[in-house]
Amino acid sequence: MRIIPISVPTPFYIGPVNCYLIAEEPLTLIDTGPKTKEANEALRDGLRKARVRVSDLRRIVLTHAHEDHCGLARSLRDEAKDAEVLVHNWETGHRAGRLEHEEHRALLVRAGVPGNEIEAMRRLYQQVRLYADSFDQNEYSELQDEAELEFNNGALRIVHTPGHTPGSCSFIREADRTVIAGDCVLKRITPNPILSVDPIDPTRRFPSLAEYLVSLARLRAFAPTLVYGGHGDPVNDFEELFNRYLRAVRERQAQVIGLVRNGGATAWDVSRQMFPETDDVHRFLAVSEAVAHLDLAHSEGKIALELSEGKEVYRRVGGDERKL
Ligand SMILES: [Zn+2]
Ligand SMILES: [Zn+2]
Repeated sequence: MRIIPISVPTPFYIGPVNCYLIAEEPLTLIDTGPKTKEANEALRDGLRKARVRVSDLRRIVLTHAHEDHCGLARSLRDEAKDAEVLVHNWETGHRAGRLEHEEHRALLVRAGVPGNEIEAMRRLYQQVRLYADSFDQNEYSELQDEAELEFNNGALRIVHTPGHTPGSCSFIREADRTVIAGDCVLKRITPNPILSVDPIDPTRRFPSLAEYLVSLARLRAFAPTLVYGGHGDPVNDFEELFNRYLRAVRERQAQVIGLVRNGGATAWDVSRQMFPETDDVHRFLAVSEAVAHLDLAHSEGKIALELSEGKEVYRRVGGDERKL
């Protein structure tokens, strides 16, 4: 079973996205690139070099439903006629008519984001949505944790690795412990645990960073020899990356705790101090990062959290800063 990476350009800050062709029957494509002319051409070029036509594809599998990964899924599926689209049930980005904006807005209000900023984020988000076609509910199947994607020769084990998004999945070829990890593992940057609604209880937010750390540990238990990420080069030294990520999380946590003043601070306050220069979509990513690290610090008892006038305010605990 050959895994053939295809690099596809995106209009996003992150740069090109990696799609993976599994050159084995049934022919399977993991991730598709965004819905742009350039991405479409690059993907077809990559398939052509592997002597595969879009109409030969039998499965389109999504590591997660961000636009840079799922954007072309629908048009490819339409062209490949009976290709099956597979995505984890906790993903929402590919769904038609989803109502999540209102749920999302509630999370942003609680995180202390001002109304005009929420509105700007919503407008931006609508722009980003244009880079993906959506699916009706009966048009895709569910990726199940621990199930296998079977091929004539070999299989990929599906591992649910939430964190970056609630329904992010990785795929493991156990014969040589190769992993396709989507945005769960990126060589040069620490993935951002995006502020997300909890798929089980939409009134809560998903504990993305805590879940992410569990996912990383789970992947580590497979002792990966090679990890193909959603962006950038593959990772040959997962152990080094694992430890680097943990250090980055601890350092960021110390920073966010330090930014919580005695009078208390919202995640928005903290994000503006952490990244004062950021604008547009990066303000959302910044507040996601702040929420994720504050939540983890709170769950570890390192800071206190109280609700004040509909906003969550983090406070220092015990007044002993040295403990941090
Ligand atoms: Zn992503
Ligand atoms: Zn991505």
